[in-house]
Amino acid sequence: MNLTKTVVLKLKETDDSIQETMERYTEGMNFASKVVYENGEPLSANRLQKLTYKHLRENLDLPSQMSCNVARQVSGTYKALQKQVEKENSEWQKIEFSPTNIKFSYGRDYKINKEKLSITTLDGRKKYEITNYEYAEQFFSGEWKYLASELVKHKDGEYYFHLTCEKEVEEKPIEKSSNFMGIDVGINFLAVGTTTDKNQTFLGKGVAKDLRKTYKKMRQRLQSKGTFSAYKRLKALSEKEKRLMKQLNHKVSKEIVKFAKEEGVDVIGMEDLTDIRDGTRVRKKDRYNHESWAFRQLQKFIEYKAVEKGIRVEYIDPENTSKTCSRCGHISRNNREGLNFVCEECGYELHADLNGARNIEHKVRDFRHDLESQGSCQPPDVDGVETTSATASCGAEPQASS
Ligand SMILES: [Zn+2]
Repeated sequence: MNLTKTVVLKLKETDDSIQETMERYTEGMNFASKVVYENGEPLSANRLQKLTYKHLRENLDLPSQMSCNVARQVSGTYKALQKQVEKENSEWQKIEFSPTNIKFSYGRDYKINKEKLSITTLDGRKKYEITNYEYAEQFFSGEWKYLASELVKHKDGEYYFHLTCEKEVEEKPIEKSSNFMGIDVGINFLAVGTTTDKNQTFLGKGVAKDLRKTYKKMRQRLQSKGTFSAYKRLKALSEKEKRLMKQLNHKVSKEIVKFAKEEGVDVIGMEDLTDIRDGTRVRKKDRYNHESWAFRQLQKFIEYKAVEKGIRVEYIDPENTSKTCSRCGHISRNNREGLNFVCEECGYELHADLNGARNIEHKVRDFRHDLESQGSCQPPDVDGVETTSATASCGAEPQASS
């Protein structure tokens, strides 16, 4: 599985070349943007390149690779817009780009080592010294592959290179996994995890709820004022709430992955909450906690940290995970008494979130058995040779997070 990271590196000194290149590049982007906008629907990167290349090269003097990047970037932005239009979240509109970033392709128009960044500008190839942070050293050790990256002008007026890199991380093939963990994310506890051996952890008790309550009160006070300054304060407030939530998510994800590592977990299972994002299905669990972005963010952080530690992550269908008895399998809406799960069939009683996490653990374990029974997995310890190819044939690669 591939691990992708973006490292932000500050350029030590800059010159007019960078600024001019950025402005010209943006001019090119806005030219291409006009072409797509007037077309009335997205254009493929190739098609757009054909329509804009000559102008970008001859009239704007953009280097060749940069002219291709313009088409690719603008085409991608309009495709994303089109998706929003289809969901009726936005209207078809002309996108205006501002001169704050340029995309570069590794090997074609940028190269980098831990001291210097070399990029193509309007004045040809130029080298710029970068600030070398200690934490960034690891990305120049030779094990990372560099991908398309961006030069960005931050609000402080300085230039930073957002280097995107990727490396292969080894993880245990699912057919050789024996220790699973289900993680339920939610409002009462941010995360509840339980392993195949029934070792469990409860993290972030009530913190999301407290945060929400605090900010709700402050918001209501400001909303009742209705002034412009109150509106501005409101915006700042929700930014702050998001930031605090993000901090909590980082903390909890770190702790739960540490727990998983200590327990020797091979595979983490979590609920696939993407349907909820699309608004096609809203579970009861999420109706009173509509800020489900916070939970998806937490899952993403967990996934990221887990993969880094060689733990595989699978997403399972969330259907009935909160209504099923984790002991006898009985499914009923009535199997709940507030925060407690009480099975109306067998009388089993436990914390509702833990019950959910156990069901998730079962599902991800079954997922492996399903693969085995379909014959698409080689049974463990056949010859100990099969590795990546067997995994690939399982079709069990974790879903790419988007
Ligand atoms: Zn039961």
